[in-house]
Amino acid sequence: MIEKRQFYINGEWVDPATPNDHQVINPTTEEPCATISLGSQADVDKAVAAAKAAFPAWAATKPEERIALLEKFLEIYKARSEEMAQAISTEMGAPIDLARSAQWGAGYGHMKNFVKAAKDFEFTRPLGDHAPDDRIIYEPVGVTALITPWNWPMNQVTLKVGAAVVAGCTMVLKPSEESPLNAMLFAEMMDEAGFPKGVFNLVNGDGQGVGTALSGHEDVDMVSFTGSTRAGTAISKNAAETLKKVHLELGGKGANLIFADADEKAVKRGVISMMSNSGQSCNAPSRMFVQAEIYDKAVEEAAEVASKVTVGPASEEGRHIGPVVNETQFNKIQDLIQKGIDEGARLVAGGTGRPDGLNRGFFVKPTVFADVTDDMTIAREEIFGPVLSIMKFETEEEAVKRANDTVYGLTNYVQSQDGARRNRLARQLRSGMVEMNGQSRGAGSPFGGMKRSGNGREGGVWGIEDFCEVKAVSGWDSDVEPV
Ligand code: NAD
Repeated sequence: MIEKRQFYINGEWVDPATPNDHQVINPTTEEPCATISLGSQADVDKAVAAAKAAFPAWAATKPEERIALLEKFLEIYKARSEEMAQAISTEMGAPIDLARSAQWGAGYGHMKNFVKAAKDFEFTRPLGDHAPDDRIIYEPVGVTALITPWNWPMNQVTLKVGAAVVAGCTMVLKPSEESPLNAMLFAEMMDEAGFPKGVFNLVNGDGQGVGTALSGHEDVDMVSFTGSTRAGTAISKNAAETLKKVHLELGGKGANLIFADADEKAVKRGVISMMSNSGQSCNAPSRMFVQAEIYDKAVEEAAEVASKVTVGPASEEGRHIGPVVNETQFNKIQDLIQKGIDEGARLVAGGTGRPDGLNRGFFVKPTVFADVTDDMTIAREEIFGPVLSIMKFETEEEAVKRANDTVYGLTNYVQSQDGARRNRLARQLRSGMVEMNGQSRGAGSPFGGMKRSGNGREGGVWGIEDFCEVKAVSGWDSDVEPV
């Protein structure tokens, strides 16, 4: 079994101030796969002090130096891709092929996009012709605390670390205690890339301990958090004492509006997208609204597609889905499926219990409910498992209204051949992202939500800007230092 109790602070691996063992469970086997230590206030203080001490020199580096370090990191990340994929797969249950492709690849893609965005980023900008001696300067926020979840771990770590590096911030990363191994590998790679000591630090821990110590810390200038809306609220409250900047990427309950004129693959695409990563994606299209004319056919097709989604061990190659991350999530999903049945939704695929032949591991049956109404628990709560709810609608106006009737606003989806309708809906849906006709967002596009899905944006230019303070300067001498 892997033993990795140390934290990465000030450029070296150090023992925790007080050992506090925590076992990382492999969700396929339900057996421990690693022992780490959970940190304490003393470890957080040490890491924040290192980040604070490193900040002035790091903030003063030229963007080219920071970009060069990211490029070096990318080489290492590529060379060690298999190690990274294995770590992700073992600790959070993504099937190894998914871990090697989308899970590892998201990290690679984001870092590459940050390099590109950084090369074009204007750190000093003119205000306008009317004020020739004014400059707007984008400066790093300072010491940042990065708190990440387990579901797309490298995706989330790189979205924060990449932006912080480009902006010139120093950082303390606290990865999820469910999936710390990939983040510790990531720290090894940052070390190997040669980032100056104290710029990047990692302390493992849980939300109550290290998470709270970071969000309330006097010397942390910004918290960037991805995870549940519950934790986002707790962090915001704790951070309010010191009025630090709080950046939140939270849960979702995406609507997928399928109109009668949708392309023939729309339903299948919606089901597969829901089941991918075992439903553990904040932007999952978990509410499928289908127009009345094609409703019965769509339900039939969705049930058939879901029944063909195979479930199996994360270590096996293939296009199956793996287990969900842990026992708590497994039980929560089982309860919600039962609630769906109890509240009168029509179960057309899956259901409670493990899939046939899997007696151990946190495996959930790919599940589809039809005739779901908007007041049912499964239509309102984020399930974070492979469970799809299908609802019927008549008109476009009704569909928009119902899609927006949620506390969340992360990603919504539209399937229609009518371009004018698509563009209309893109504006009317209250979410940070709208994806239409199965076309994914391009590289460097901003990721983030409205309402209780969070604030701020990650990725590309917008991600970098969120790690910056904007300084307004007048009386600038352009002869000395032009823009
Ligand atoms: P979680 O909120 O329980 O944990 C996320 C991280 O926050 C972990 O590192 C955890 O230790 C830490 N944490 C928990 N409570 C905390 C507290 N009070 N103070 C500080 N830190 C705390 O969420 P999870 O179960 O790990 O992840 C699933 C949730 O994350 C889902 O709701 C999902 O939608 C959301 N999510 C959102 C996005 C996004 O970008 N919008 C991406 C992935 C996941």
